[in-house]
This record gives sequence, C-alpha cells and structure tokens, in this order.
Amino acid sequence: MSDALPTQDAVDAHVAAFARELAAAPSLNDAKSLRDRYLGRKNSIVAAWMQLIGSAPADQKKHIGQYANALKVAIEARWTAYDEAAQNAAPAGGVDVTLPGRQPRLGHRHPLTVVRDRMEEIFTRMGFAIVEGPEIEDEWHCFDALNMPAEHPARDMQDTLYLASPMPPIAGDPESLVRTMLRTHTSAMQIRYMQAHQPPIRIVVPGRVYRRDDLDLTHTPMFSQMEGLVVGEGISLADLKGTLLAFARDMFGEQSRLRFRPSFFPYTEPSAEVDISCWSCNGAGCSMCKKSGWIEILGCGMVHPAVFEAVGYDPEKYTGFAWGIGIERVAILRYQVEDIRLFYENDLRFLEQFPS
Ligand SMILES: [Zn+2]
Repeated sequence: MSDALPTQDAVDAHVAAFARELAAAPSLNDAKSLRDRYLGRKNSIVAAWMQLIGSAPADQKKHIGQYANALKVAIEARWTAYDEAAQNAAPAGGVDVTLPGRQPRLGHRHPLTVVRDRMEEIFTRMGFAIVEGPEIEDEWHCFDALNMPAEHPARDMQDTLYLASPMPPIAGDPESLVRTMLRTHTSAMQIRYMQAHQPPIRIVVPGRVYRRDDLDLTHTPMFSQMEGLVVGEGISLADLKGTLLAFARDMFGEQSRLRFRPSFFPYTEPSAEVDISCWSCNGAGCSMCKKSGWIEILGCGMVHPAVFEAVGYDPEKYTGFAWGIGIERVAILRYQVEDIRLFYENDLRFLEQFPS
C-alpha cells in the first residue's frame, strides 16, 4: 500500500468495500473489527495513509493528508449510521427474552358471584342439581300454585312489579290472557320444575328476584335468592334441619349452630325462620349480631300439600322441604358489608377488596 500514493479513486474504492463488508457483517463484533481495520490508531488503512505523509515528497503531503482525512470522514459516517441503526433495531424489532414478563391485570369475580359459586359448590357436593328459571313469570307460577290465591293476604304483601303488557292470549281463548311480572321469589321455579319432573327431586335455584322496594341500606328492588327444594317419599323435618345445618357449617364454619323459629309462609307448613349462631362471637353476643348471639339467615318449611296438588303430585305419597336464602344477605354477613347498595354500584375500590 505504501508504494501507491492515495488517490480519490482509492478513497472511493475503500469506502465502497467498507460499506459492502459492513452490510455483510454477521454480528456487531464482526462489524467493530471491520471498523478497526479501517479506522484503528495502528495498522489500519487510515493510519497507514497518515504515515505516508511523513515520507512523501513535499508537494504531495497536502494531497495525501486530504485523501486520508476524506477516507476517515467517509468511513466514520458509514459506521455511525450502521451503529445507530443497530441500536434502534433491538427494541423495535427484537424481543429481549431475558426481561421479566409483564403481568397482565386480571379480572375479578364480583363478591356476589363468589358467594353464589360457593353456595352452589356446597349444595352440589350434597347432591343437589342447579336449576335456573325465567325472571318474567305469570301469576299462576308465582302465586296461585304456591298456595297464594288472588284474595290471599300474602299476595298483597308481595310488592310486585307487574309488566305493562300481559302475555298474548292463546288464539280463540280470551281466558288465557295472564298478567305477567318480574318474579318476586325463586319459589316460582319450584312449580315449573315439579311440573316437568317426577320425584325424587333435589334442586337449588339461584337467580335474581324483583320487588317494589326503595333503595336503602338493606333493600334493593332487585336482589338474588337461592331456592332449595327436596321432594320424595319419607322426607321429614329432620332432613330439612340436617341439610341446612350441613350448609351452614360449610359456609360459616364448623362451630355453626342453627335455631328454628316458627313462622308463616303460604307454601310451607310448618314454616320456620332460621337463625345461625354468630360466627363473630360464637353466640356470646357482639355488635354484628346486635348482642343476641344469633343472626337471621333464611326462611324454610315443609312443602304445603296444596303446592303438591297444584303440580299433580300425590300429597299422601310425597313430602318435601323448601327454603329461600338471600345471596346478598349471605354476602353482607360473610364480608360484614353495611350497605347492600355497594354491591350494585360497580365501584372498583369496593369490589377489589374481596377475594376472587
Ligand atoms: Zn356476635
């Protein structure tokens, strides 16, 4: 190289060769070695050209210096462009598999869903089938068949949300015109299920129900119930107590005890309100149970013979029991929530406080 003095053609040839080799460099380290062969302080092409200046004829020194500098500037420009492209390519196109993964934010089951799922799980394990029914009902399924005829006082007690338009009458039969409503209790599904099935029956019916209630701390016009129904031969009050006690112990703890207080429902006889021993103080009395040691949890009873007659069952042959439990009520007690409206306001600050 030292025998040939640098020329513009030599500069162009070196720059073209550098660009070609750089483009073909298999790795960044190979590219850096290539750069050093052209630009390094020792034993590089630019360094060799600089050395020529010392031995060159006086009239050539200036030109050799200019060519060496032109080569250096051109190679450096190409290297800078290559290096910047390499830096930018990594985050844009490549994936750094060594970075820790980003945890996606997972959704969260609603506390009422958590409670409902838990209740369903407990009853499923006891051999119950889970059944759902329509939220729009007719008066017969919601009231008449449940031993609540039109003049029955219990029917007035139910503050019902009737729908504006009744079901269309069956052709040629104006008597078939029926009033429809949003169901006031899941008990209507007892009737539908018994009409379609023969005993033995063991079902729970979770679902929304509607009443003409104003919103306050403990009431909403829409809430959820879980109905239970067992029908067969020789089913007794002892079976009812045993079933509900097993549920209470699973849901609220092994130490749970139940207290049955006589009550009245048109569709059960005898009927009872059931209290559970307070799991906060274990019956000693605290603020949660209002010092009584007991918390009201559900209503239940033995299926009234008139209900069996309505669905065509022989009340001499079959007996059964039923209960209705408020899912919000269980959630309120379980999580010690003081305002039922919080369950329906979709405020994540509230909802995120519950285990999912
Ligand atoms: Zn208590």
